[in-house]
Amino acid sequence: MPDAGRPDQTVVMKFGGTSVADAERIKRAAARIVRAKEDGNRVVAVLSARGKTTDELVDMAYEVSERPHPREMDMLLSTGERISCALAAMVINDLGHEAISLTGSQAGIVTDTSHTKARILDVRADRIRAALDDGKIVLVAGFQGVSTEYDVTTLGRGGSDTTAVALAAALGADVCEIYTDVSGVFSADPRIVPGARKLTQVSFEEMLEMSASGAKVLQLRSVEYARNHGVRIHCRSSFEDGPGTFVLTEQETMERPLVTAVTHSTDEARITLTGLPDQPGVAGRVLTALAEANVNVDMIIQNEPQSEGHRADMSFTVPRSDLQASLDALEPLTAEYGIGIASDTNMGKVSLVGAGMKSHPGVAAKAFRVLGDAGVNIEMISTSPIKISCVVREDDVVRSVRELAAAFDLAEEDIRHEDVSGVHRPVVSSEER
Ligand code: ADP
Ligand code: ASP
Ligand code: MG
Repeated sequence: MPDAGRPDQTVVMKFGGTSVADAERIKRAAARIVRAKEDGNRVVAVLSARGKTTDELVDMAYEVSERPHPREMDMLLSTGERISCALAAMVINDLGHEAISLTGSQAGIVTDTSHTKARILDVRADRIRAALDDGKIVLVAGFQGVSTEYDVTTLGRGGSDTTAVALAAALGADVCEIYTDVSGVFSADPRIVPGARKLTQVSFEEMLEMSASGAKVLQLRSVEYARNHGVRIHCRSSFEDGPGTFVLTEQETMERPLVTAVTHSTDEARITLTGLPDQPGVAGRVLTALAEANVNVDMIIQNEPQSEGHRADMSFTVPRSDLQASLDALEPLTAEYGIGIASDTNMGKVSLVGAGMKSHPGVAAKAFRVLGDAGVNIEMISTSPIKISCVVREDDVVRSVRELAAAFDLAEEDIRHEDVSGVHRPVVSSEER
């Protein structure tokens, strides 16, 4: 399949970290970008930092500071994607095309001031448009922008996807191609379930739930942005040709399987507050304190007091990276109300997503049975019309994903085979055998 269709269309191509990890891969990505240009497209490429660069930059910060200043963290983290873009531009120029690399700020990505997880407010793409009009290939450093206070910001882990979608929206691109290290969006993380199926298409509704529950192949905000601005996402392999997965509107998607995918996350933390006074407004104050600290609370459970005058307990999950900020934000409240506070860092989550769940009861019952039979303790549960999520111990996540994938037929036949007694059992990956 050609990378793009008719001449003169605008295409945004985003390459993830693994796809630009070393010199060879940068050259390969550059060649693909050039091919799209030679096919007659106006080409904008968004690049991520190479390989594990962003993780290494984060580690570097913690080597010198216990609590790195968020503004300076962004200054540091934004360098990774700049390196990739400059290198790719050099390769493209050597290939005989004109390329120009731009930082997020130069590309006109304007964000709010929430350092390390800024939101895009505006895309002023005039400079990109002018460069495209001049026949140039434009390379934009992903994952970053400039705040309304003129500081460098970053868009949260995985944020280059959002840069690409936002540019595609601003430029009226025909497609936003997300090139990554898997060949599309799968029914489960193919690294955990080797027999997982590639989805040829997935609805925004389902993709939002999948991204929100841990399928990091597309950053949640990129999917939200694409839905809100009508951007066509094509998620595909940077190592092979052939179509990947299209994210489409509900009207465009044909299939409504009961369960489309099992997703998971292994970086959750749980906070439990005990002895909350049983009076109106307390839960609101807890959640406001967390919202003001820019923490996204996921699952919340509150146990009502057994009898009048007693106190309530509340548990919720937050991304593990936000645990310290959450504890800091809650400290004044716990002191004020005499609340007990405990946290557990080793939590994970496993979820089933499927548009067909809306009209078919019984998925939750089966999921809980499967986890129960596997000896997995479900610690918290939440549901939406098309998703069921269970918080489990981090150590139980991989097993839970495999059991659910097998029970809900989310993998090709090879995930199951008959053992001598004829009882089905999931096949474990070679590294575990
Ligand atoms: P990139 O660096 O290209 O942005 P990411 O690591 O952010 O790539 O996302 C791709 C990874 O997402 C894959 O390597 C895969 O392990 C993981 N992943 C998790 N769930 C899924 C899923 N349902 N389908 C495809 N990939 C998934
Ligand atoms: N480099 C950033 C990260 O590792 C952004 C991205 O890759 O999308 O999170
Ligand atoms: Mg990513």
